[in-house]
Amino acid sequence: MTMDTLLGCAGLSAGYGSMAVVRELDLHVARGEVVALLGANGAGKTTTLLTLAGQLPPLAGTVLADGKPTKAPMHERCRTGLSFITEERSVIMGLTAKENLKLAGVPTAAATALFPELEPVLNRPAGLLSGGEQQMLTLARALARRPRALLADELSLGLAPIIVRRLLTALRQAADTDGVGVLLVEQHVRQALRFADRVYVLNRGRLVLEGPVADVQSQLGAIEAAYLAG
Ligand code: ATP
Repeated sequence: MTMDTLLGCAGLSAGYGSMAVVRELDLHVARGEVVALLGANGAGKTTTLLTLAGQLPPLAGTVLADGKPTKAPMHERCRTGLSFITEERSVIMGLTAKENLKLAGVPTAAATALFPELEPVLNRPAGLLSGGEQQMLTLARALARRPRALLADELSLGLAPIIVRRLLTALRQAADTDGVGVLLVEQHVRQALRFADRVYVLNRGRLVLEGPVADVQSQLGAIEAAYLAG
């Protein structure tokens, strides 16, 4: 682990109350990397992201930011360059797309530079946008603020494959162009692996596989059958 580690954990146990649902997890995301965190429902992916973001206190072990241990809560982490996006659309539905951007202090031009698709719908209430447009708006808002690290929890849940591709492309570009470190939880495993550099697979809270996508690709069938079903 180097100072290049934007985000990570060492020996992390995470969970709720005194119940650990993630155990002894070592994970890291470097600058400019897209890393996929995979696992079946209930494997502990969301719990891991919440803990890395500072929203859940670790039960044991250490959360790392910029290569150093941190105990800072999420609002503080967000001020210093962390962005956390979930499947829940966080836009305000009664406001137009443009007003949503303004509220976040994001210039419209910065958002449409990332997603030109938003241009024609800027004056539409966010509630009337398609699910894909709402997530583009969410992602545009997050990326335009130039985060250093971004956690994405099932960003594309329920969206069409072409939109999933579009959102993942934008994350890949942010990593390649701006050096953003991205940790991605995705149901669309094959799509995620197409865009990720490395992968971690969790099974019942424990790491069962990790490595560069190129190395684990050949094991993908077995991974899916063993750990990702259901
Ligand atoms: P999914 O794809 O279903 O979201 P996941 O891999 O993200 O799965 P988590 O949401 O992290 O899994 O859940 C891991 C375990 O923790 C599950 O057994 C779940 O029931 C439990 N859990 C999740 N949230 C809470 C909570 N607030 N309180 C207690 N247990 C919880």
